[in-house]
Amino acid sequence: MKIFCVGRNYADHAKELNNAIPDEPVIFMKPKSALLQAHTPFYYPEFTNELHYECELVLRVSKNGKYIQEKFGNKYYDAITAGIDFTARDIQDELKKKGLPWEKAKAWDNSAAIGKWIPVQDIKNRNDINFKLNKNNETVQNGNSADLIFGFDYLICYISNFFSINIGDLIFTGTPAGVGELVVGDEIEAFIEEDSIMKLDIK
Ligand code: MG
Repeated sequence: MKIFCVGRNYADHAKELNNAIPDEPVIFMKPKSALLQAHTPFYYPEFTNELHYECELVLRVSKNGKYIQEKFGNKYYDAITAGIDFTARDIQDELKKKGLPWEKAKAWDNSAAIGKWIPVQDIKNRNDINFKLNKNNETVQNGNSADLIFGFDYLICYISNFFSINIGDLIFTGTPAGVGELVVGDEIEAFIEEDSIMKLDIK
C-alpha cells in the first residue's frame, strides 16, 4: 500500500506558505507505517516543535493501473474521506531551505490519519464536495473540491505516469488555506458536508 500526497493543490494554501502556484502537481509519498490505525491514539512527535494539521480529501484506489487516461481516472477510486496530512512544519521549513527531501517532515509514523469512507456512489458531485476542519470546535479550514488546481481524475492520470497505482493505495489530494499549529490537548474534527468523518485528540 502506498500513500500519495499532493502539495500546493489549492491556490489560497500555496499563497499562505509563500509558494508559487505549481504548473504541474507536486507529489510526495508517505510509507504504510505513516497511516494512523483506527482506534490508535495520536501522540505529538518528540522531534518537532511546530506540528501542523492539513485537512484534505482522500481517495481510496480501487483498481490497479498505469498510464491511466484522465477521462478514465474516475474508475480508479471507489471512496472518499477526509484525512489529516500531519506536518512537522519547522522541519519542513529547514528542509525546504536546503532543497532537501521532505520525508522527515511529512512521512513519519502516524502522520497520515483518515476518517470513515464515503462510497463514491453516495457523493452527488465529486467536483463540489465541501469539507472542513474544526479545532477545539472552531472551524479553521474550509475547502471544496471545485477549488482543486488539479482535480481527482487528473491526479490519477498524472501519478500513474510515474507509479503504478494499486488497490488500497491512498491519495491525499491537498489542503486548502488555514493550516496551523496543534498542541497537546487539542481536539480536531473533520467534516465532509455536515457529516463528522473523523475526530482525534492530540495526546
Ligand atoms: Mg498536505
